[in-house]
Amino acid sequence: VFSHVARAPEDPILGVTVAYNKDSSPVKLNLGVGAYRTEEGKPLVLNVVRKAEQQLVNNRSRVKEYLPIVGLAEFNKLSAKLIFGVDSPCIRDNRVTTVQCLSGTGSLRVGGEFLTRHYHQRIIYIPVPTWGNHPKVFTLAGLSVKSYRYYDPITRGLDFKGLLEDLDSAPSGAIVLLHACAHNPTGVDPSIQQWEQIRQMIRSKGLLPFFDSAYQGFASGNLDKDAQSVRMFVADGGECIVAQSFAKNMGLYGERVGALSIVCKTADVAGKVESQLKLVIRPMYSNPPIHGASIVAAILRDRTLYDEWTIELKAMADRIISMRHQLFNALRDRDTPGDWSHIIKQIGMFTFTGLNVRQVSFMTREYHIYMTADGRISMAGLSSSTVSHLADAIHAAVTH
Ligand code: PMP
Repeated sequence: VFSHVARAPEDPILGVTVAYNKDSSPVKLNLGVGAYRTEEGKPLVLNVVRKAEQQLVNNRSRVKEYLPIVGLAEFNKLSAKLIFGVDSPCIRDNRVTTVQCLSGTGSLRVGGEFLTRHYHQRIIYIPVPTWGNHPKVFTLAGLSVKSYRYYDPITRGLDFKGLLEDLDSAPSGAIVLLHACAHNPTGVDPSIQQWEQIRQMIRSKGLLPFFDSAYQGFASGNLDKDAQSVRMFVADGGECIVAQSFAKNMGLYGERVGALSIVCKTADVAGKVESQLKLVIRPMYSNPPIHGASIVAAILRDRTLYDEWTIELKAMADRIISMRHQLFNALRDRDTPGDWSHIIKQIGMFTFTGLNVRQVSFMTREYHIYMTADGRISMAGLSSSTVSHLADAIHAAVTH
């Protein structure tokens, strides 16, 4: 009965790893997937995560019962404080509802499904380009996806004029997806002044901001700084939605731990919204997993662990920034044609190199370097010992 099923293509991002795994070259390099690696090229479990896990194991009274539909209450509270700030007016006034979801992706999906059911304007604007899963998540959630200009390939910076024009012509009430920081894949973020103009445009047009916060702490190494964009939209008293992921900043990728927050005008509305979120979640996966959320709660609740986390987080962010400088210097040393300053200007885990599809496939074929077809490389997958191989490959790709 299934013989008619056609083979689907690999996921454009996760498929890069599939191809990488099949390559037997000793110099192969995976710069496709956005996961942190150490200088030795190994995945990293943070020390503070190990400590928190040890606490959990030692606690004999811990059981593996189901969590409530909305997840671990303490995790939800602490996640909201992390993104909105401890003294946030929305927390003080009890007008935000936060529910634990399956990492960033699950939070986006639950948010999308809620909006389809309960929001009058089912159009969501996403930036061009954006994380490849965004259009699929929101389309399947029932929203109609449109796009706004974001990246200018000529300046390799923000197309700010295009962005404002597109938001200005969006229908009233439309949802706008914004990357809170460390925009994926471009590494280009608005300045604080530009965020303020974006905020004014969104509020004056009555648009609904939906933040995707997958890299808090990874952009600058400072958790509060990376949450500034979101906090501006809470400070003005308006509504906003935030999908949070702990995959990158706590290295909890496979634990699937994240949160969806919906900031409302009043506590009464927030309570009603939460009751409806439960109706979205229950038939989808009933309730979220307990382990990752318990780790996050253990770290966020304890001053010592929290401080240790921020140090480890900063070390990850700093290693990525150092990789940017090393790659930039290596290309300069080779006199590689072109302006490569965007490598050190861009923010977060990725560099949007500007390499085209042909150059990318050349680098994969000749140098066994794997990356997404749009020329995005994960700086976190690079180390001092592999920079020269990558620089050789880029040099050859642009000169051959
Ligand atoms: N949003 C963006 C922009 C991302 O880059 C990612 C991860 N690549 C996610 C959301 C979701 O990640 P996860 O579901 O693993 O938290």
